[in-house]
Amino acid sequence: QEKLLEVRNLKKYFPVKGGVLQRTVGHVKAVDDISIDIYKGETLGIVGESGSGKSTLGRTILRLMDPTEGDVIFKGENIATVKQGKMRKYRQDMQMVFQDPYASLNPRMSVGEIIEEPMLVQKTMAKKDRKEKVVDLLKKVGLPAEAREKYPHEFSGGQRQRIGIARALSMNPEFVIGDEPVSALDVSVQSQVLNLMEDLQKEFNLTYLFIAHDLSVVKHISDRVGVMYLGRMAEIGPKKLIYDNPLHPYTKALLSSVPVPDVTRRREKIKLKGELPSPSNPPTGCSFHTRCPEAHDRCKVDRPELIHQGEGQYVACHLYSEKK
Ligand code: SF4
Ligand code: MG
Repeated sequence: QEKLLEVRNLKKYFPVKGGVLQRTVGHVKAVDDISIDIYKGETLGIVGESGSGKSTLGRTILRLMDPTEGDVIFKGENIATVKQGKMRKYRQDMQMVFQDPYASLNPRMSVGEIIEEPMLVQKTMAKKDRKEKVVDLLKKVGLPAEAREKYPHEFSGGQRQRIGIARALSMNPEFVIGDEPVSALDVSVQSQVLNLMEDLQKEFNLTYLFIAHDLSVVKHISDRVGVMYLGRMAEIGPKKLIYDNPLHPYTKALLSSVPVPDVTRRREKIKLKGELPSPSNPPTGCSFHTRCPEAHDRCKVDRPELIHQGEGQYVACHLYSEKK
């Protein structure tokens, strides 16, 4: 399978200031050494609690933030380090759909202006073509042409997310990151927006990184799923393996709280001890050891790396050794 993006040892550390002089006293390792491949045409779901670093991962990949360290290879270029001027060329290929459609649409712009705005940077496009494209995009996301004359507040949350998607697509991107694009929506509306995103993926050959805070949201849409905990990847692999044969104790705990319709396949709910530790002071060794039901002595001192368990499933946990 062809890779669209290669993320290598990506880190994003935020300084923590303290004391009267507000000196840097430590770092929040929001993204701490993440390496992932993203394949053309796939949907990679990324799941984690708030504070796991999943949004920062998305923003760092798109270079909305500069990474502290690491590489993001896209079309043969390391976009983690390329100069901002050169980044513009790639930025059109990579778009983001944000969690909060209320906050991400300018309330003083009409919907037509909102969708047209990114196209204005392509100075070659005639005004008439832009207007036609706006109407076409509205149709693609299931909104009438008249919507372009209206303002964001005249639409429901789900409709506003459709507008956000139309704007992202106006640049003909290849890669779209959805940062919890349905989390702010009612459950009934969530599936409509997810279905729309799947249809658009097929039609436009899109590759998705889809960020969510629980495993049920990404279950249908993902081809592969990665589970993050305190800035690191705990487990990643093909969807079927992650849901049917989770290996990491954290993945197992998250899955145990996903409702399943089939009673015979219901799992016993695993309750994790304590709260998510502070990302500015993560536990030593395996950062999950303070909450892990299977933690043992080694876990407190030794940090597990991701190791392959076969068929593209990788887990970072001392309970497993490498399968060749
Ligand atoms: Fe639990 Fe240890 Fe595995 Fe971490 S390495 S997930 S603490 S068993
Ligand atoms: Mg977030």
